[in-house]
Amino acid sequence: KKKQAKQAEVNIGMVGHVDHGKTSLTKALTGVWTDRHSEELRRGISIRLGYADCEIRKCPQCGTYTTKPRCPNCLSETEFLRRVSFVDSPGHETLMATMLSGASLMDGAILVIAANEPCPQPQTKEHLMALEILGIDKIIIVQNKIDLVDEKQAEENYEQIKEFVKGTIAENAPIIPISAHHESNIDVLLKAIQDFIPTPERDPDATPRMYVARSFDINKPGTEIKDLKGGVLGGAIIQGVFKVGDEIEIRPGIKVTEGNKTFWKPLTTKIVSLAAGNNILRKAHPGGLIGVGTTLDPYLTKSDALTGSVVGLPGTLPPIREKITIKANLLERVVGAKEELETEPLRTGEVLMLNIGTATTAGVITSARGDIADIKLKIPICAEIGDRVAISRRVGSRWRLIGYGTIEG
Ligand code: GDP
Ligand code: MG
Repeated sequence: KKKQAKQAEVNIGMVGHVDHGKTSLTKALTGVWTDRHSEELRRGISIRLGYADCEIRKCPQCGTYTTKPRCPNCLSETEFLRRVSFVDSPGHETLMATMLSGASLMDGAILVIAANEPCPQPQTKEHLMALEILGIDKIIIVQNKIDLVDEKQAEENYEQIKEFVKGTIAENAPIIPISAHHESNIDVLLKAIQDFIPTPERDPDATPRMYVARSFDINKPGTEIKDLKGGVLGGAIIQGVFKVGDEIEIRPGIKVTEGNKTFWKPLTTKIVSLAAGNNILRKAHPGGLIGVGTTLDPYLTKSDALTGSVVGLPGTLPPIREKITIKANLLERVVGAKEELETEPLRTGEVLMLNIGTATTAGVITSARGDIADIKLKIPICAEIGDRVAISRRVGSRWRLIGYGTIEG
């Protein structure tokens, strides 16, 4: 029996139509309001991983599931079962891009559907489609805002949901009525998470790899050189285990100019600390957002400078690619556009915005042949053949997600 865990072991995506209650439900479960990045979002599709953790606990006396050390029902001390992390994204397109660009950022999903609107709404459909594309089949449907409807409306909405998921990957997902606002039925949801979203089997011996989502200089201005703390990386471990003391490599690293030549230089450094939220770790595995303290000059990590890089043990990372060939799968319709816009094929010469893992880069198509496209990247990426790329195109004044691709070379 586990006593407690300092790090989450499974990542659950919060998906569903805007305003259906994803952020409210994340708050009800974890106490954390993840919506703080909405400002940054307007600038385009950037991947912000809004992770928030909670413990799932069970009362040994009355069987109630809770996130609290004491049973809300009978006040007994509860038993720790598992620490889980929820991935909430501020906006629809970011969420789609996060899903389509990073395999293993979500192990399961909670599809939030508001009971007071007809089902499906457009983004409900698109998120379920993204889950199908990714093969994420550990799904729980939350019928939220149940406080706003009467019994008959709730039942009609339930039938609509049943009809909507028929024949899809969510066909057998449980449907749980919730009021995120009043925090009611959260105990039933916690039990469902235990029953339906197991921790995936992970290989602790896999070569460790992390996507950098943020990077920081944590020193206060004016700190004396001898007291300076090294650069800090925040990211998601997608496989393997990192330990304090590990030498690591970061790719593509930083852009350097020497004479009239400009190139990208991988960085090597050492892990001096690991943290999950406020918890200090000795080693870290996939699950939640991990802070990695290094011996890097903090100048290199300030202001998210290393966002999009990949971390691994020296010599184990995929190559740095300045050009890629992808096989594209375009969605029938442009994601998020007001009008129902059909997606046109990729064109030679057009500029795309690409998300790969946590990296975002522009790229120009040097040759498009059917669903195959050669793309020259503005910022190089560190990626493996077979990795996924989310593809956005400029429609009117903004970038719109139009599909995803697989790196072929
Ligand atoms: P998101 O866009 O899916 O993240 O939705 P939010 O969590 O931001 O919620 C959108 C709005 O719905 C907010 O005004 C919430 O207060 C409200 N809301 C969320 N859950 C519930 C609920 O269970 N009942 C009611 N009455 N309102 C809710
Ligand atoms: Mg939200």
